Amino acid sequence: MTLFAPSWRTRWWRAVEAHPNALILGLVLVLAPFALLLVWLQMGRWEDKQIGAAVQRAGQALDVRHQQAVIDFTHVMEGLKGLPEFMAAEPRLIRALEQPKNPAYLRATEAYLGDVTEFSGANFALLLDTQGRALTGHFYDSRASVAGLVFADREYFRMAMAGQAGHQFAVGRMSGSPGIFFSYPVRSTSARVLGVVAIKLDLVEIASRIRLAGVFVVDEQGVVILAPQREMLFKALADAPIFKTDVAFRRQRYLRTNFPVLTLQSARMPAHPEIQLFGEPAKPVLHRQIEMSEDRMSIHLIEELNELPALKANHLLVLGIAWLAVLAGLWAVCATAVFVLRVRQFRTNIEAAHAELLLLNDRLKHQAESDFLTGCMNRRRFDEELGQEIRRSQRQKYPLTLALMDLDHFKRINDSFGHLIGDAALQHFASVLRGHIRQTDRFARIGGEEFALLMPDTSPAAAMPLIERLRQSIADAPLPLASGASLSVTASIGVANLCFLDDHDALFQRADNAMYEAKSSGRNQAIFAPCPGGVQEILAFE
Ligand code: GH3
Ligand code: MG
Ligand code: MG
Repeated sequence: MTLFAPSWRTRWWRAVEAHPNALILGLVLVLAPFALLLVWLQMGRWEDKQIGAAVQRAGQALDVRHQQAVIDFTHVMEGLKGLPEFMAAEPRLIRALEQPKNPAYLRATEAYLGDVTEFSGANFALLLDTQGRALTGHFYDSRASVAGLVFADREYFRMAMAGQAGHQFAVGRMSGSPGIFFSYPVRSTSARVLGVVAIKLDLVEIASRIRLAGVFVVDEQGVVILAPQREMLFKALADAPIFKTDVAFRRQRYLRTNFPVLTLQSARMPAHPEIQLFGEPAKPVLHRQIEMSEDRMSIHLIEELNELPALKANHLLVLGIAWLAVLAGLWAVCATAVFVLRVRQFRTNIEAAHAELLLLNDRLKHQAESDFLTGCMNRRRFDEELGQEIRRSQRQKYPLTLALMDLDHFKRINDSFGHLIGDAALQHFASVLRGHIRQTDRFARIGGEEFALLMPDTSPAAAMPLIERLRQSIADAPLPLASGASLSVTASIGVANLCFLDDHDALFQRADNAMYEAKSSGRNQAIFAPCPGGVQEILAFE
């Protein structure tokens, strides 16, 4: 059945054999998304790890710079804050404030302020009375006069008038250059505040005293006042207080109203929220803000994550290579798996075909050795068995008896009832006989209506009663016909035993002769043909 109507499995395997690459491609297409996703996730984790390490290194660098920046800044600021305090004790300033109308005192003061700007690096020094009006002042690089100008609106003035050291970022209204003003109250000997002394250091000057690489400083309004690049100055952080101030304030302090926003925003990397984007074009950085609240400023440290773009590019490259490798590997695995399956299936097919062949072979052998009508052995097989049994009997000295049977007047049966009934009579005879013989006996149809019975290990003396019983049973068991009548079938039997020096033909011939003798003696009888005169039965020669 399997040979002629292939199952779905067979059809499937045939399709695989015809197009193995299609199966491999199909498998790869199904598995690839999962494999690629897995690699992508894995690579993402690997990248996160590397970014994490870079961030950690940058964080450590920031820690070191944090300390340095605080020390640097405090040092510079403290030095500059101390200067007006030192100046406030100068008798020339006290005298000038006590007698502002005295030109000699004013000149002496001016000379003093000139000296201070000379040695301190200050760009501007000035002396204000309690109304904030400039008595005199000195620009380091100009002869411009400030006498009479009122600075009462400046915070550094108000702070000093309140009796404390003051400082403030502002753009000089004369010079137009940005800088930090440092102030201190000048007191009389009776500690009465007579006025205010102030110096201004331009940002350029302060910047030269602070290491500004990766640092910018914003004032309390969030405006950048110190930065390594000029273009960063006067920019402000997005949420800086300056954006809430009015135009007048902006103009008064900064001489401008417009403050571009300084880009500093989250890089939107969920695994690394600390990474920010800074500047134009935006670069990934770590940012740290140090509040110098006493100085009303904050220092911003920027640590560039220079490795990050290279890391990303590298990651993309590695991801691409990994994907290609995974696809190639997947193809190799699928191709191998399909190959192994094909080989196994091939073996299974071969084994199945082999088993089928064996079965067919058995069937063919059976057909070749048996009689299709009665199911007993045919002549060819019987001859082989007879040869074997003769050799065995001769070797082991066992008796062997052969009976040949021919149905009587069978032609008549055919003629009277037809061939089909004749066939039925043959089957009937065979089945009656089969019911009486032993398992070791060999029973064969050796001709049209001729049968042979070989009885190994049986002497004629033991065989004859059995054969007689057989003959009788057959005669007593007529074949019932459809008409209700019954058909009597008899047989003439010739019996012979194996004698000394007998071969197949001799034994057969003797039995055949006996059978013909039975026919001629009236049929329906069994006749035994003993060994020829002087020849002993095989047992006698033990
Ligand atoms: P006897 O042996 O008693 O001398 O007479 P007989 O009629 O049996 O002898 P014969 O050998 O002349 O006839 C044998 C007949 O058996 C001839 C043939 O038509 C018939 N025969 C042989 N083989 C078959 C068979 O397979 N089926 C049928 N129905 N008849 C067969
Ligand atoms: Mg015959
Ligand atoms: Mg006959």
